[in-house]
Amino acid sequence: MKIQKSFKESNGTGTLYIVPTPIGNLEDMTYRAVSTLRDVDVIGAEDTRNTKKLLNHFNIQTPLISYHEHNKQGRGPQLIEQLQSGESIAIVSDAGMPGISDPGSDLVALAVEAEVPVVVLPGANAALPALAGSGISTESFLFCGFLPRKKKDRKEELERLKRQTATLIFYESPHRLKEMLSHTNEVLGPRRASLARELTKRYEEYVRGTVDELAEWAEREDVRGEFVVIVEGSQEKVEEEDDQWWAALSVVEHVDHYIESEGMKSKTAIKQTALDRKLPKRDVYQAYHVE
Ligand code: SAM
Repeated sequence: MKIQKSFKESNGTGTLYIVPTPIGNLEDMTYRAVSTLRDVDVIGAEDTRNTKKLLNHFNIQTPLISYHEHNKQGRGPQLIEQLQSGESIAIVSDAGMPGISDPGSDLVALAVEAEVPVVVLPGANAALPALAGSGISTESFLFCGFLPRKKKDRKEELERLKRQTATLIFYESPHRLKEMLSHTNEVLGPRRASLARELTKRYEEYVRGTVDELAEWAEREDVRGEFVVIVEGSQEKVEEEDDQWWAALSVVEHVDHYIESEGMKSKTAIKQTALDRKLPKRDVYQAYHVE
């Protein structure tokens, strides 16, 4: 077990900052993100050319170094050494929160291992606004990221998610959206769903309906831009074992329980027992009065 006090005097190491950047609208850059990017020694960026434009816009002069999917094996330990020698480093991705379908989480794991403090700034991300604007339950949700590209793997993954009762959040690229929605409809059926397109940008749009309606929409539309797909969780009632508290009782004991513990009249207790066990009332009546 390790405890980190994020804002205590450091033990000589630097801090690793995870800094979200806008997913479209530059006004979503926070004051804290700007000051952190100004104050750190180095910024590790998924695409340095892309981040350079952002830094220019906010007049940030901090040196950039690349940190992406293809160099993270070598670059990660190197950044940890820099952190251990006292430098502070910020990680940014092309858009949104690093580590969410973007590089970042591996470096956090290395930093935790090396006892380097990790400070994550809240900020822009595509999944949560898409969920909050979907009109579908936000009570519990599962972030699924991108589904596998291969049809067979994708369908297997959807099969695995079929019984999930939490709302599902998917990222998808525009050229795979049509196929993704059609497979989702085949496996999960026509549940409620919502597409959030081009969030925070000029052509932001929500398409809300059922998965089959969205699949039809994607068939006839010129699908462009960036999308988050929100799909309602399974609404099928699963017979919870806990609901069958009476499973170990005989029919007579079950009826007696209602009479003795809940003060029901025998007629009501028999009716309730029949309902619980999905049995005809007459069968329960006979079992109770014959025994
Ligand atoms: N790290 C990012 C985040 O925190 O949301 C996600 C990066 S992931 C590589 C890119 C995917 O995020 C896109 O394919 C799309 O599904 C979603 N996305 C990013 N920006 C978006 C936007 N403005 N509107 C809708 N979806 C967006």
